[in-house]
Amino acid sequence: MDTPADTLRAARDSARRRLADVEAQLAQLRDARGAESADDEHDPEGGTLSAEWSRIEGVRVGVVAELDGIDAALDRVSAGTFGICEVCGNAIPAGRLKVRPTATRCVRCAERRQ
Ligand SMILES: [Zn+2]
Repeated sequence: MDTPADTLRAARDSARRRLADVEAQLAQLRDARGAESADDEHDPEGGTLSAEWSRIEGVRVGVVAELDGIDAALDRVSAGTFGICEVCGNAIPAGRLKVRPTATRCVRCAERRQ
């Protein structure tokens, strides 16, 4: 059976690949935009590129946040605090950690926060 650290490392690898992907797409768009005129307002093509940029940049921000969460969880594994709710100090159920290895709160504390 995989340990939480294995799951987290696999998730980190996958997130890093996705990050490299979106960064490559952004670099491509940057080139495409540079080749066009900078006048987005009157250039339908430029407007499309801007919308596409915003969408991919949104994905990038999400992947970076995901990576941060994974790194923080791996730090907790090293520190021996992985799987302990940061609010109440109780153990986070294994089932929850399996679905969300980056969870920092038990179900009750996570729900209370909302
Ligand atoms: Zn809790």
